[in-house]
Amino acid sequence: MDCLSAATMPWLAPAIERIRTAAARGRMPHSLLILGSAGLGAPQLAAWTAGFAVCEAPLERRPCGACAACRLLQSDTHPDLHVVRIEEDAKQIKVEQVRELIEALAQKSYRGGYKVGLIEGAEALNANGANAFLKTLEEPGADTLLIMTAARSHRLPATIASRCLRLAIPVPEPAVARDWLAAGSAGERGLDTALALAAGAPLLAQSLAREGLESLEKDMRESLRQLAAGSVDLTLLAEQWVRTDLPLRLRWLENWVTGRIFAGLDAGVSSQTAEPVRLPAALLKPKIRAMYALLDALAEFRRLAQTGMNQQLALEALLLRGRSIFS
Ligand SMILES: [Zn+2]
Repeated sequence: MDCLSAATMPWLAPAIERIRTAAARGRMPHSLLILGSAGLGAPQLAAWTAGFAVCEAPLERRPCGACAACRLLQSDTHPDLHVVRIEEDAKQIKVEQVRELIEALAQKSYRGGYKVGLIEGAEALNANGANAFLKTLEEPGADTLLIMTAARSHRLPATIASRCLRLAIPVPEPAVARDWLAAGSAGERGLDTALALAAGAPLLAQSLAREGLESLEKDMRESLRQLAAGSVDLTLLAEQWVRTDLPLRLRWLENWVTGRIFAGLDAGVSSQTAEPVRLPAALLKPKIRAMYALLDALAEFRRLAQTGMNQQLALEALLLRGRSIFS
């Protein structure tokens, strides 16, 4: 795991500072709940914290990235780090996985330092798993650190969440995110679009920028133009979208619609900052109302896309519905 990069992300600095300060006062927390949506660096912050706990350098230089413990962590072979995440094709973290973690944490530390248990995506814990975990949370052994990461809208039981130090990762100010992106990339082109597409999440924007945004942008604009003109076969277009970059296309479309709503409301607010304000339907012009409806349909599509629905048919319906908006 990468225990160093979190320190280069300025929006994680307050969380890092909190852990440093607590440790300097001899009050290192025993359990942490790191909350943040995708692309905000929750895994990196978790890795940094694990590194901070096991690193063998003086406190103020941790994690150093160079000592034996750090190197073991970086190669995912540290014997005192135990990671639990949802298994492929599973819907939940299994209670056996949690039991194995608890057992591992009950053992003596191999290297004589901290033992770290990390649960990635803790919202996938089911009730049994959470209950099994609760006792460990209540009575963590000496030099044991439990780290959980979860989306901000997690559904963790309060009994779990309330026993952890909560670190909620904020969406950074656009300027902060942009500077960080610019520092890490060869060119500046497309960074703003990528950031808007990623709803302000810098790491997501970074991967978008690297994946070649320009061609997507061109392709989507051309699709909308053809849709508006009625010069494209809906079935073929939907097929093409489903086949290539569907999640990205949906996000692009969502952003585009949001931008149009802002323009229509003349709100003068950047589409990056928030969801547009919901006004009573009667106050909205029909076209803006239709745009809101399309946004809802997009959100619903994304939700249902995970249930194995027929994406092709649903997308055709969605595009047909959006046709009047695209002109
Ligand atoms: Zn170290």
